[in-house]
Amino acid sequence: MNLHRDTIFALSSGRPPAAIAVVRISGPRARFGLETIAGTVPEPRKARLVRVRDPKAAEDIDEALALWFPGPKSETGEDVAELQLHGGRAVVASVLAALSKLEGFRLAEPGEFTRRAFENGRLDLTAVEGLADLISAETEAQRRQAFRQLKGLLGDRAEAWRARLIQALALVEARIDFSDEADVPEDLVAPALKIARDLHEEIVEALAGADRGERLREGLVVAIAGPPNAGKSTLLNRIARREAAIVSAIPGTTRDVIEVHLDLDGYPVTLLDTAGIRESDDPVEQEGVKRARARAAEADLVLWVVEPGAKAAIAYPRGAVQGQGPAIWLIQNKADTPYPVASIINNNESEYHFIERYSISALTGQGMNELMNKLSTYATRFFEPVEGALVTRERHRRTLQEAAEALDRALAKHAADREEIIAEELRLASRALGRLTGRVDVEDILDVIFRDFCIGK
Ligand code: GDP
Repeated sequence: MNLHRDTIFALSSGRPPAAIAVVRISGPRARFGLETIAGTVPEPRKARLVRVRDPKAAEDIDEALALWFPGPKSETGEDVAELQLHGGRAVVASVLAALSKLEGFRLAEPGEFTRRAFENGRLDLTAVEGLADLISAETEAQRRQAFRQLKGLLGDRAEAWRARLIQALALVEARIDFSDEADVPEDLVAPALKIARDLHEEIVEALAGADRGERLREGLVVAIAGPPNAGKSTLLNRIARREAAIVSAIPGTTRDVIEVHLDLDGYPVTLLDTAGIRESDDPVEQEGVKRARARAAEADLVLWVVEPGAKAAIAYPRGAVQGQGPAIWLIQNKADTPYPVASIINNNESEYHFIERYSISALTGQGMNELMNKLSTYATRFFEPVEGALVTRERHRRTLQEAAEALDRALAKHAADREEIIAEELRLASRALGRLTGRVDVEDILDVIFRDFCIGK
């Protein structure tokens, strides 16, 4: 352990006031810190009631539970102390102030505890990402996926793949080393290539469900689109008022996409209201429109809302939502108005591939239950097949693709009998897997990954 390292501390629980506030301390002087402000160091991993005091002010601040986790078998791999205080603002402020007066102590940066855990080998990089996802998980399916990553779903697999690759590489290198000698075993390369072939197959299989595995983090994206006045905003508001809406995040300026995050049977669905998409001369607004379009273009499903009298086929412009052709449901709104619904249907619309069609009233709620049930079913069908997917981030996909491509080249015809090429490609594949778990070559991405963490984590 590096004794010259700062000892860090932070409020690790939520924002006060709260019933309890957890302050964590990690680093070489954690024991000293605990002794100084709590007067004692409890037995490892056993809670003890202590008086917390500011040694400089010689005054009790609070009564708290103290815990002591000596390194290296602690969360960060360093000595860690934890105080469970009363969660008042002044209590927390006073304890943090007392700690900051101690020599070698400073407030932790966002994600710094976890970063130390990573640097001390307590977590690999995929587990770190799983932890970040667990903290931001909003639905059951997201929680399950994040927890699996935290517990090594992909990380352990990648390590096992890497170990087999290194084994294959050793065989090829042995062949290269002994190539001048007469009695070198003939078939060192063939078993290495067999390993490479098996690995290639397994990695390609893991990549198969990648897109949807990644989607589970941000949710199935459903865009509400349609001509002006069709009732898009009314529909979004009605859905957002339901219990299923867990967040209504983005501020409602017309130039931004309004998002509502839904929890449908445990699966995350992000609803986008593209009502704000309109042409404008204002450059700021144009930028917003561009972003809104791009976001809608990536939607998995479009609810195309029309009002009575609108001809759906004419109303839904080709290319209105570009990209890889999301599924489109036709939503005939304002069913409470006297127009006969049947009159809306246009004869030519079959070419537009509306795969579902609903008649609703966003105003009265008529038909909404059926629509929401169908959305739930759609989300379940979308995500169920990828429950347990290994790949949950673009970073995973990219590194696994690199590994698969290197293996592909190692197995290619032109590489046959050229051991140096095979060895080099196996090395590249192994490096890609090493980057995946954070064993090698990751300095440049660490800042990006840990930036997303909150302070105290
Ligand atoms: P948007 O431009 O597509 O977002 O449309 P809005 O949601 O702003 O709705 C346009 C107008 O239609 C408003 O006056 C709404 O009150 C009305 N409206 C929306 N949905 C319904 C509905 O189901 N029935 C009736 N009668 N009026 C509706």
